[in-house]
Amino acid sequence: MDAGGERNVVEAARDDSEELDLNLGHRFLDSLPNDIHVLNNVPDVLKITRLNLAGNIISVLPDSIGNFVNLKEIDISGNGLAYITPRVGELRQLKTFMARNNNLDELPKEFAQLLALENLNLSGNRFESFMPQLFELVSLRTLYFGGNRIDVIPPDIQNLQRLEILYLGGNQLTSVPVELGNLRRLRALNLCDNNIESLPSTLVKLTHLQSLSLHNNRLTILPVALIKLRNLEELSLRENPLVVRFVRDMTFNPPSLLELSGRCIKNSGVKYTSQDLPVHLLKYLNSARRCVNPCCKGVYFDARVRHIKFVDFCGKYRLPLEQFLCSPHAGEKWEDCSSSSSEDEGVSPVPRERLRKVLLG
Ligand SMILES: [Zn+2]
Repeated sequence: MDAGGERNVVEAARDDSEELDLNLGHRFLDSLPNDIHVLNNVPDVLKITRLNLAGNIISVLPDSIGNFVNLKEIDISGNGLAYITPRVGELRQLKTFMARNNNLDELPKEFAQLLALENLNLSGNRFESFMPQLFELVSLRTLYFGGNRIDVIPPDIQNLQRLEILYLGGNQLTSVPVELGNLRRLRALNLCDNNIESLPSTLVKLTHLQSLSLHNNRLTILPVALIKLRNLEELSLRENPLVVRFVRDMTFNPPSLLELSGRCIKNSGVKYTSQDLPVHLLKYLNSARRCVNPCCKGVYFDARVRHIKFVDFCGKYRLPLEQFLCSPHAGEKWEDCSSSSSEDEGVSPVPRERLRKVLLG
């Protein structure tokens, strides 16, 4: 084979900054070549910044990867990879690690040393949990961890403060921790194809969120706070029981005497001062919440009725959002009155053009 043919087998591209892009993808390699020079006239392994090993049959990422100390990107997706050497921790320049569609179920603890890592793709592997070393990767901007067997998102997820894209679709999640709401830079959150039954209202803090994928879960309600996500452009909800099951679930326990007394005082405007009442009663009276039904004008303390109201989100779809009423009857005449005074609960009309895509069906 001539020199041109050789170049065709192993493509090494040089750019003007003396960085080398070594493409060894889809070559039926079963291991990382110990001596790259034999395969290709690469002058210096230290100059290789991008290494593509995707689509081979490399089951072990061996110690020799530690020699690529200037590597910024590696793609070893689709290899049946089951083991990563602890020497991976020596790749201190690494910004992108792609290892999707493999057989990984753990990472070496040295993975935590990849402090420059910004993009990590471990989707389509066999992980059963988040490994603690992932929460050390504080530079991460994108984390793709879909199609594994993960059943819990640990609260430490909030350590990844720079995260902009979090993909956890196709796992076995049943809940979402309140700490997820602390990832203030998130633009896309994908939780589709799990078993999630409810979402924390702390998601309202994700003010940069543009895309929220929730399809194929077990959601029966959405937190009303969702409507405050002003940057949300895409919301997928299909394959959730949230439209079917909501009315049956309404339950109401009789309010306590304390609750009834408190309501009387608040509803009829009985005057009181801090001299009149013990501190705990004052505190209680101050905890009164307004019934969300604008016709009702009542208050509640602890005894409240969970109510689902369909709120127009984009002029085409109405979303079932969770609200609280003072009594089961407070919801009956809702439609008769002009609902303009419920701003306290944040249910103000949403501009038609805001949400571009709501996928319900
Ligand atoms: Zn009411």
